Amino acid sequence: MINVTIWNEFKHERNSKNVRKVYPEGIHKAIGSFLDSDDINITYATLDMESCGLTDEVINNTDVLFWWGHMAHNEVPDEIVTKVHDAVLKGMGLIVLHSGHESKIFKSMLGTACNLRWRDNDRERVWCVNPGHPIAAGIPESFELPQEEMYGEPFGIPNPDDIIFMGWFAGGEVFRSGCTFTRGCGRIFYFQPGHEEYPIYYNENVQKILKNAVKWAAPTRKLDSLACVHAAEKPEK
Ligand code: ZN
Repeated sequence: MINVTIWNEFKHERNSKNVRKVYPEGIHKAIGSFLDSDDINITYATLDMESCGLTDEVINNTDVLFWWGHMAHNEVPDEIVTKVHDAVLKGMGLIVLHSGHESKIFKSMLGTACNLRWRDNDRERVWCVNPGHPIAAGIPESFELPQEEMYGEPFGIPNPDDIIFMGWFAGGEVFRSGCTFTRGCGRIFYFQPGHEEYPIYYNENVQKILKNAVKWAAPTRKLDSLACVHAAEKPEK
């Protein structure tokens, strides 16, 4: 059993009629509904919940955490970010979606600005450039998203461990749309598609990619403390 927690800022769906039309119950519920299966247990967490829904108990029981945020990154308290950061170092998987590239947690895990170029409403072709990677299992050579927000290079991230998907946009831009990182014992997957105004999370290839990502990011082991990860900083005397 993999315990997945889906964190969503959950503001656009409440503030905008158009977004609510696409995701009436919120992006988190849309993702949860296709992930839900016998071997995945889902917990939902949103910004308006106490401790953003990320209490110590929830964090300790999470194997893989999804993160969707956009307009309220700064409303997530630093204390929560630190707890999530430490949990990733101890082995929790982290899947950061779309505009989560500017979230406090993504920037703190990667240590760079994570900025990018963007433009509204373009057509995207997502190319699978690493077909042997477990996250690419069952994904065709490429697939199209008729409408998506354009994200373009340069993307201010450190060099990823693996680039699995490259996005090409009809306007001519390209983007590292699916990449992985390792921090401590934790595995991180960033996936670009997922703008709130378009039905991206109903696309069957997107769903397959995120299901694969859960299995890939689930910890093979979780540390009880950060002593191992931080050992180099505090040598025993
Ligand atoms: Zn967006």
